[in-house]
Amino acid sequence: MKLSNRLLNINGGGSDGWEVFLEARRMIDAGQPVVELTIGEHDTRTAPDILMQMYESARSGNTGYAEVPGSSTLRTEIAARYQRITGVKTDMDNVLVTTGGQAALFSAHMAVLDPGDIGLICDPYYATYPGVLRAAGADLRRVATRSSDCFLPQRAVLETTAQGARSLLINSPNNPTGVVYPRETMEMIADVCIKNDIWLISDEVYDSQIWQGEHLSPRALPGMADRTLVIGSMSKSHAMTGSRIGWIIGPARAIEEITNLSTVNAYGVPGFLQDAAEYALKLGPDAEQKVAEVFRTRKAIAEKILSKSNTLRLIPAQGAMYLMLDIRATGLSGEAFAFRLLREALIAVMPGESFGQSAAGHIRVAMTIEDSKFAESLQKLADFAASLCKSDNLGN
Ligand code: PMP
Repeated sequence: MKLSNRLLNINGGGSDGWEVFLEARRMIDAGQPVVELTIGEHDTRTAPDILMQMYESARSGNTGYAEVPGSSTLRTEIAARYQRITGVKTDMDNVLVTTGGQAALFSAHMAVLDPGDIGLICDPYYATYPGVLRAAGADLRRVATRSSDCFLPQRAVLETTAQGARSLLINSPNNPTGVVYPRETMEMIADVCIKNDIWLISDEVYDSQIWQGEHLSPRALPGMADRTLVIGSMSKSHAMTGSRIGWIIGPARAIEEITNLSTVNAYGVPGFLQDAAEYALKLGPDAEQKVAEVFRTRKAIAEKILSKSNTLRLIPAQGAMYLMLDIRATGLSGEAFAFRLLREALIAVMPGESFGQSAAGHIRVAMTIEDSKFAESLQKLADFAASLCKSDNLGN
């Protein structure tokens, strides 16, 4: 039987850039000691007291259907957190709870794009973004960036690509680059959105992981509250990736309408998980910092090791749990480098090309293993890169 074009179109056809990752998984399954620095999953698990809340909530009977937009107490807590971080007045009517940030991304695009509308994403991008836009039936247009600009979108490029577009998806702190958009960039983006009457979808799931600079939500900028949908999640801030609690923050009318989408595709998020999320948010910023701190430490370890490398260039690591390394001095593509690193040094990283053409010749390293093993692996990676240049010099 024929499947829908919408469905078949989601992965866009061709290579999706995940071959290195899949090869690493095969090698691990075959018993090889591969060090995995690929996906953004904490090496710590959800804290026991948060798990206890889940259990107690379920035991007390919260196992039935939950309110579709999320419990009013959780929505209020999410609004308060956003207001505390950004200073923008936000209340529960501005918040819809979703099954993770991923469903929030999909719902937000479904909310603002009709089939055939043009949706923009900044390249490099988080790997699911193109599929989200295609699943929403949109025409995907990429905003190219350059390594030499720290992958920040530039006005001239954005102004050209924005013509005729309905939405722009941005992500700061950024996965995969680790860059935090400065105020000037956010203001430029807001200006282009207002001039072109574009919805801004701002993925802020890494807002608790800031190593340098400050997190600025574009919803806080003049004229932006009515055209911005903010994507948030408990996944990264509280090491709750498996709990699938995320949200959209936006204009109350949009939230009310997007709730209809949640009614037809999920009918709410499990109540006991919502209760655990509410408890976790009430622990305040210190609990979030505790989760983030391990990555700050590893970023410092990496900077020390990489400062001695003449081959690898680290894109300034300002936030999120990733490092983006420019490996072009080795003469290899990101994919070729990642494949050789995997086969010859048993270290798995993501090729930059998995996240779009703007990150070609780069690799992304997830800082998601224990400190001493992380330091050892990065040193091995740096030595491997240096050895490639040496053999090149010898004409081998
Ligand atoms: N946005 C970005 C940039 C991400 O990296 C991720 C997960 N890695 C998500 C959204 C989705 O996160 P979740 O669904 O776990 O909330």
